[in-house]
Amino acid sequence: KPTLRQFPRTPWGLYQSWLRRTSYAPPAAASNQTGGLTSFPPLQTYSEEESMTKEAVRKYAQERIAPLVSKMDENSAMDEEVIKSLFEQGLMGIEIDPEYGGTGSSFFSSILVIEELAKVDPSVAVLCDIQNTLINTLFVKLGTPAQKEKYLTRLSTDMIGSFCLSEAESGSDAFSLKTRADKHKDYYIINGSKMWISNAEHAGVFLVMANVDSSAGYRGITCFIVDRDAEGLEICKKENKLGLRASSTCPLNFDNVKVPEKNILGEVGHGYKYAIGMLNEGRIGIGAQMLGLAQGCFDHTIPYTRQRVQFGKRIFDFQGMQHQIAHVATQIEAARLLTYNAARLREAGRPFIKEACMAKYFSAEVATLTTSKCIEWMGGVGFTKDYPIEKYYRDCKIGTIYEGTTNIQLSTMAKFIDKEFDH
Ligand SMILES: Cc1cc2nc3c(=O)[nH]c(=O)nc-3n(C[C@H](O)[C@H](O)[C@H](O)COP(=O)(O)OP(=O)(O)OC[C@H]3O[C@@H](n4cnc5c(N)ncnc54)[C@H](O)[C@@H]3O)c2cc1C
Repeated sequence: KPTLRQFPRTPWGLYQSWLRRTSYAPPAAASNQTGGLTSFPPLQTYSEEESMTKEAVRKYAQERIAPLVSKMDENSAMDEEVIKSLFEQGLMGIEIDPEYGGTGSSFFSSILVIEELAKVDPSVAVLCDIQNTLINTLFVKLGTPAQKEKYLTRLSTDMIGSFCLSEAESGSDAFSLKTRADKHKDYYIINGSKMWISNAEHAGVFLVMANVDSSAGYRGITCFIVDRDAEGLEICKKENKLGLRASSTCPLNFDNVKVPEKNILGEVGHGYKYAIGMLNEGRIGIGAQMLGLAQGCFDHTIPYTRQRVQFGKRIFDFQGMQHQIAHVATQIEAARLLTYNAARLREAGRPFIKEACMAKYFSAEVATLTTSKCIEWMGGVGFTKDYPIEKYYRDCKIGTIYEGTTNIQLSTMAKFIDKEFDH
């Protein structure tokens, strides 16, 4: 049974060595000439690797995560076995080079993984999403050889990372952050606090945005690698949330936390650029999370509408129901195309920021519509905890908030649109 990391065991070991031999080309790159016309593959065309990944994760999520979802939601706690199995499956280091113990796969594969996990549990999906699209990518792009050796090997095998930007007074206006890092000889002292830090309960490392020179404004923001056991770092009580309850979200306090200079990731004063860059890509991941959530909810609901009989007919057979179902299915398909297109653009090295905002914004809207409609289509039972629909309904709300609220996505899109009409 294929999993993303049964390597070096077979059959996934074979798959991984095949991956290393194959120079990866996204399907969109392959076009054929037919009758003098160039034809392009549809957006939902997957490479062999991507198809295998999607199928392996689908099976893994059904078998290993689905039985635990409701308990994790009720207890507001991620099951340790789920975390362990995500690492075992190679899902926490998808794009990390095998040299560091990673899977050596592509960004698009990460998007497929997040979508598949979110179909079953959006909390598990966000754990995997932040690790792959924010933390690992920052280390891969900016890490020194020593930082890569120390952290990438752990991030791909047993260590969770958290991304620490938001503060109580700086959310959408993220770069007005107040956490300070003061330089002394060859180390910095960090003071301040962060809010809403996902996965902090289990994280072994924190990427912390702090300002080394507040007189320089956002140009003082620098990214620091802070280990969990750093003296003066306090991981506070997790928030009691509406949805995504199995994903821990904690405030952090930094009280004279000493961080060696060698723990700066990238360049001093470039933290804001790194944060913007990562969040631009990360939004495609949240688009995939919302897309998977909507699809998962829809997939749980339609079979019910095909079984439930009222007025002597399946409720699916009423035209009033069919039109709504077809409308929602179209919205989900559109969210998928936006998300995949943004991911393919990013992978092809083409501009993708506006498209990433559209994907995140639209997928969050579609998740809201889908989950709300699914409850209605299920009638009274949809409103109970006997079915998973009400959980999807609660989980989807976060899509309009984190990694840039819906308003912020719309404002960014508008900036691009304005520029497009400059000439
Ligand atoms: C479950 C959860 C997990 C999170 N995980 C992380 C994490 O891991 N790391 C991290 O750093 N942060 C994280 N966050 C923080 C998240 O990114 C912020 O909550 C988000 O950016 C919004 O900031 P805010 O909550 O301060 O809202 P505010 O910025 O106060 O926004 C409130 C409202 O005002 C609107 N608004 C604000 N400015 C404008 C504007 N210029 N134009 C129009 N409307 C505007 C917003 O759209 C929103 O509707 C998480 C949050 C949650 C809830």
